[in-house]
Amino acid sequence: MEITKELLEQVDKWIDSHKDEFVDDLKTLVDIKSVAEDTPGEHPFGEGCAKVLDKALEMSEKYGLATKNYDYYCGRAEYGDGEDEIGIFAHLDVVPEGNDWIYEPYNAIMKDGFMIGRGTADNKSSAIAEMYTLRILKDLGIKTKHKMFAFYGCNEEVGMKDMEYYLANEKAPVFGFTPDAGFPLCYAEKGIITADFVSYELDGNLVDFTGGHASNMVPDYAHITLSGVSEEAVKAAIADKEGYTYTVDGGNVTINAKGVSSHAANPDSGVNAINMLCRLVLDNNLINGKAKDAVAFVAHVLSDCHGAALNVPFEDDVTGLITHVGGVIRLNDNKLTLNINMRYPVKAEQETLEKNIFDVVEKAGFTICDFDNSKPQYVPLDHPAITTLMDICKEYIDPNSEPYTMGGGTYARKLPIGVAFGAGLPNTPKLFDIPGHGSAHAPDEYINIDMVLRAMKIFVIALIRLDGVEF
Ligand SMILES: [Zn+2]
Repeated sequence: MEITKELLEQVDKWIDSHKDEFVDDLKTLVDIKSVAEDTPGEHPFGEGCAKVLDKALEMSEKYGLATKNYDYYCGRAEYGDGEDEIGIFAHLDVVPEGNDWIYEPYNAIMKDGFMIGRGTADNKSSAIAEMYTLRILKDLGIKTKHKMFAFYGCNEEVGMKDMEYYLANEKAPVFGFTPDAGFPLCYAEKGIITADFVSYELDGNLVDFTGGHASNMVPDYAHITLSGVSEEAVKAAIADKEGYTYTVDGGNVTINAKGVSSHAANPDSGVNAINMLCRLVLDNNLINGKAKDAVAFVAHVLSDCHGAALNVPFEDDVTGLITHVGGVIRLNDNKLTLNINMRYPVKAEQETLEKNIFDVVEKAGFTICDFDNSKPQYVPLDHPAITTLMDICKEYIDPNSEPYTMGGGTYARKLPIGVAFGAGLPNTPKLFDIPGHGSAHAPDEYINIDMVLRAMKIFVIALIRLDGVEF
């Protein structure tokens, strides 16, 4: 179907006359606290997620769209009755509100054209936008060959079990996009491996080793406790170095290290506090026994953050260098556990990658537990869906639009063919400039309503154009 001037005018008119309704519906969803939790029974991600999904499905039905509920893992609204399907994938779960809110997280208000509240940007405005996109197709009588649907996920922020359940119970769409990033589009996401490297049973003078709290961060804090080490030896070891302090308690000395945290996808700008302690106790002979060997292996793993220590120094022309960080360390049952978070390039050879890591770790006498490999996502730039969406971005957003890649993860990685597309638009005004406030996952998260409505118009155009692509 042609995108004519008349059609675009009709879409604009429709959006104008439904703006207030959009704001009301978005507030209804934002006011439901929907942090995904693990709960047994018929609501797998908790009452909040069940309630917000019920609400989104109820709205969709009110607007004349058929709906499905996939046992409260996720749901969808649909339009048209083609055999092949194209989906837009938004999520209704949110990250916890955290502290320092100036406004209320679950009582959304409008201010100067922005809505403030947890989930306004990530990702409930996209959920309403995809629902309204289908309404527009329906109300304007636009017929499509494909069945179009709006996916409402309930577990995006904590593991994407909603998508796994969906794809196990429903046929995959021929194409999907997730409005959970920014325009133009992200066509490649690195693979993500997480694992625990667990040592053998230790002996020696290691009493405790604790550092970091999140797998996906370079840890900025760690402490190690050793027995049988003199205060003088510690004092001498840290004398000319920055970032270390110590305390003495009976026969034990605890050394603290302060590093610099950074996200696991950009480890170069961080300083790993766990590695700082490993280097200190090894270089100054403060540790002994099997504990020394285990700490030496940890130091080896953390001696670089681009895979060299694990014999996987991979790189490709799409997503660049591999990264790895050791974000968390603990001493449990006299065994040392180091958590690893690795982001590998899309073209990395899976089998070699996994084999090399296991070889290095097992050769050091460590075992690998809780190994998880979330495969990368990559759609070549000459794929007709990508060229179609990029043409739209060039025509309606910016003639110089360039597609991009990410170290992070969206729903796109779970789809056979999918990308992140929108909903953030360049040059959108800010509501305020308070450091640490206003963005997704931060306090006082907000969204510019006009921006989402512009994104929604692009979604309408995208579905119409994608309908003409041969998949
Ligand atoms: Zn999101």
